[in-house]
Amino acid sequence: MKQMKWLAGVAFLSFLASCGNVKKETASTEASAPPQGVTVQGIDQLKLTTLKDNEGDKRMPNKLFYGLRDSAHVELLSPEGSVASSIHCFLVETEGKKVLFDTGNGAENGGCLLMRLDSLGLSPADIDYLVLTHFHNDHIGGMLQGDTAVFTRAEVYVPETEYDHWVTKGDTTAFAARAMRAYAGRLHRFAANDTLPLGILSLPAPGHTPGHTVYRMGRLLIAGDLMHGLELQLQDLNLCPLFDMDRAEAVASRKKYIEYVRQSNDSLIVAGMHFPDNGIWNKSE
Ligand SMILES: [Zn+2]
Repeated sequence: MKQMKWLAGVAFLSFLASCGNVKKETASTEASAPPQGVTVQGIDQLKLTTLKDNEGDKRMPNKLFYGLRDSAHVELLSPEGSVASSIHCFLVETEGKKVLFDTGNGAENGGCLLMRLDSLGLSPADIDYLVLTHFHNDHIGGMLQGDTAVFTRAEVYVPETEYDHWVTKGDTTAFAARAMRAYAGRLHRFAANDTLPLGILSLPAPGHTPGHTVYRMGRLLIAGDLMHGLELQLQDLNLCPLFDMDRAEAVASRKKYIEYVRQSNDSLIVAGMHFPDNGIWNKSE
């Protein structure tokens, strides 16, 4: 048992190193700077924290966006051969509650979310609500360690359409089904456009997956996987990465919510799970 604990400690340390975190003693000398991989910003009554799940920089190769016949067009729009991306989770704090949007890849797959929370002095048990955009593994991977629920207290909110596709009609042994089972009793399936706790509005954005959902919370829009290569796709909203399950629907959703953002006269802060840098769309660029 002792040896197992020691081994777990070694695994944790190597994981810590892979996520690029500095030692706490070093960090404390720079008290004003947020820890590595973490960005904090205030939006009216909300505190938004970006928790970067991947280590270092991530780029999406152009060829992921070729589709059936877009290769020359994509290369022209993205001459560097790849486009800046990332994997993020977002923590929103308001009214004394903590809401986590998505969980990244999971520590067992190199995900840094738990390390980022730890660097803020938070543990998974501090999360009150876990809200999911969709069931791809880079979003729900962090829900389990082995078959055990990581977030021991959180009430979990999932789009009914997404649950239906991956769990009700899906493989019962697949990760999504196992993850949902681990949270039985505190799993809430909601319909499109339902309002969740703290006034979180669910907005259906199908196409990337059947139940892919984005969320509005005050002036914040959590954009999920509407875009994987922000800089490239903003130049042509018709471009889809390979991961979009239904291209026509994905394009329609992308156009709908870009228009939604524009209609807000730029008052919305848009946070995307695969937006580059700190995950916030810098609309002035
Ligand atoms: Zn994703």
